[in-house]
Amino acid sequence: MTISETVLQLRREIPAHVQILAAAKTRSAVEVREAIEAGIGIIGENYVQEAASIIGEVGRGAAEWHLIGHLQRNKVKQALELFDVIETLDSLRLAVALDKQCRKIGRTLSVLVEVNAARESEKSGLLPAEVEPFVHEMGRFPRLRIDGLMTMGPLVENPEALRPYFAEVRGLYDRLKRLRLPHAPMKWLSMGMSDSYPVAIEEGATTVRLGTVLFGPRKETMDEDRDPE
Ligand SMILES: *Cc1c(COP(=O)(O)O)cnc(C)c1O
Repeated sequence: MTISETVLQLRREIPAHVQILAAAKTRSAVEVREAIEAGIGIIGENYVQEAASIIGEVGRGAAEWHLIGHLQRNKVKQALELFDVIETLDSLRLAVALDKQCRKIGRTLSVLVEVNAARESEKSGLLPAEVEPFVHEMGRFPRLRIDGLMTMGPLVENPEALRPYFAEVRGLYDRLKRLRLPHAPMKWLSMGMSDSYPVAIEEGATTVRLGTVLFGPRKETMDEDRDPE
């Protein structure tokens, strides 16, 4: 199947209220363009450098660009030139750096808070218990709008094993949304990947991040926690 045929099939299968983000790591500009032409409105990139090159070819205005990989503070300036949404806000220090750069360029930034739902020590993201106090603290940064939560989930054989993690993050999301904090509208819950998106949608995802099912298997394997920058 071509990328366009796959997108049409996924769009028929996935409920209309759920956004599909194309997770585009290692994909070429040609592949990304094909996804956009088939109707994908959001492209997710893991690395600032790779995003700069793809966005340079595809065009900044061709889609909404989301950073879905870890952001280092020394890449904040460049990230803000490239991305519409940072899905991986995972520390106070990063919030300080993002807010500072936003003030400098006169921009408000949409961010999601990344949750380390499985409490894996080597993974980035806030622990579930830290999320609510962190979101309250973000009121200090008028340039950052907390639009939701994002989670990866651990690597598991059976996607059913992710259900409790997705459910827990959904619970945090709902609770924060009910608070109606002016700086935290909580519109998006980004969870679920190729192997787990049906479970994530059942547990309330509003955005699924799809790579393999959308583009096909990746040619090079990339260690997702690698940090080449
Ligand atoms: C690669 C990646 C995805 C998509 O993974 P697939 O299993 O290929 O669908 C989603 N989210 C993040 C953060 C990723 O790095």
